[in-house]
Amino acid sequence: MAVTRTFSIIKPDATRRNLTGAVTKMLEDAGLRVVASKRIHMSREQAEGFYAVHKERPFFGELVDFMISGPVVVQVLEGEGAMQRNRDVMGATNPKDAAPGTIRAELAESIEANTVHGSDSDENAAIEIAYFFKPEEIVG
Ligand code: AMP
Repeated sequence: MAVTRTFSIIKPDATRRNLTGAVTKMLEDAGLRVVASKRIHMSREQAEGFYAVHKERPFFGELVDFMISGPVVVQVLEGEGAMQRNRDVMGATNPKDAAPGTIRAELAESIEANTVHGSDSDENAAIEIAYFFKPEEIVG
């Protein structure tokens, strides 16, 4: 399988509970390599732009409020089939539905405070990576 890249966010519920390392270890143990990483506090504009696809959803306002409630860690992950591999280790959006051993089953607090974001397609991964990283910030 081809080595590809995907985009990940360690969300504010995880940085607040000092779980940046715990999440990253689960990603690395799943065969993903962190080839770019930075801790940022998103502005409202940045979060609204990132989640623009969900603008009409009832949870949009709360989602943006949550994502700017504390620092996050944005990452580029590399590995064989990185997008699907990351989604597999993340688990289902709602931690109640997430398979045992996944990040959300083990660490997430709720459907909103669900610890990680991961791109849902290779196309979106490229868009999301470019939203937060310049090419020279990615070092494979
Ligand atoms: P995604 O673009 O797949 O990362 O989805 C956006 C995020 O919105 C999810 O990861 C959840 O944190 C949040 N979300 C999705 N559905 C709901 C919901 N029904 N209520 C609250 N938050 C939600």
